[in-house]
Amino acid sequence: MIDSHCHLADRVFAADLDVVIARAAEAGVTDLLCILAAGDASEHAQAARVATLCPGARFAVGVHPHQAHEFAGGGRSSAIVRAAFADKPSVRAIGEIGLDYHYDLSRRDIQRAVFAEQVALAREMRRPVIIHTREADGDTLDILRDEGQGEVIGVFHCFTGDITMARRVLDLGFLLSFAGIVTFPKAGSIRDAAALVPDDRLLAETDSPFLAPVPHRGRRNEPAWVCHVVDALAHVRGTTTADIDARITANFLGLMRGA
Ligand SMILES: [Zn+2]
Repeated sequence: MIDSHCHLADRVFAADLDVVIARAAEAGVTDLLCILAAGDASEHAQAARVATLCPGARFAVGVHPHQAHEFAGGGRSSAIVRAAFADKPSVRAIGEIGLDYHYDLSRRDIQRAVFAEQVALAREMRRPVIIHTREADGDTLDILRDEGQGEVIGVFHCFTGDITMARRVLDLGFLLSFAGIVTFPKAGSIRDAAALVPDDRLLAETDSPFLAPVPHRGRRNEPAWVCHVVDALAHVRGTTTADIDARITANFLGLMRGA
C-alpha cells in the first residue's frame, strides 16, 4: 500500500518514529511520500531518519501557503526548493504548495506569488506538485493553468471538494488524493467525488499526524491507517481493496517518475 501524503518529519513523531514506521510496514505500506516544509531544519534532520528507517520513502519539499510570507519576493521560494532537490536525491516532488484563504496566515497576494513561483519551478524541473487548496479553488486552478502551461502534473491532496471541483481537477490532468475524511459519516459529497474519479487518477493518503480515519478518529494519525482510506474508496467504487491498492500503487509510481 501507498501513503501518498504524510508528515513523518513532524515533531510529534520524533519520540517513536521507528515504531510508527514498523507498524506501517507490518500493515503493508511499502511506499510513502513524506512532506517537508522548505527551510525547516528540524524537519530536514528528521527526514534523514525517515529515509533510513523506510526505504520506500520519497520526499516532497515546498513552501506551504501558511509560510509564504517568510519567502516573499526575490525568487526565495524557488531557490530554497531548488536547494532541497540538489541536497537529497529522494526529493521527488514540490509540495505542499497552494493557497489557503481559510486561515489566511499569509497575505493572499503573497500566497499567489509564492505559489506561482513554485509551479513555474515545477515546470522547469519537470517535477510533480502536491497541492494544498482551501477556499481558494478558482485562484488555485488559474495559477496551475497559467504557470503550468499544461506541462505540470500533480495531485490535489486531501481532496474535500464536490463533483464539480473534481471534474475541474481532472480536466487539468491532475490526480485526486483522498484522506481519512472520506471515512467520516458526514462526508457524502466527498464520497460522491471519489466514486467518479477514473482509476488512473486516484490516490490515498493519511496526511498524518492529522485527520485520523474512522475507527481511529481524534487520535494522532499514522501511515499504517491508510488501509481504512483504501477500504472506504473500494466500498464507494464497488470494487475490492486489492484492486484499489494495485491501481493506486501504479498511479503513485507514475507520478513520482514525473512529467
Ligand atoms: Zn499535508
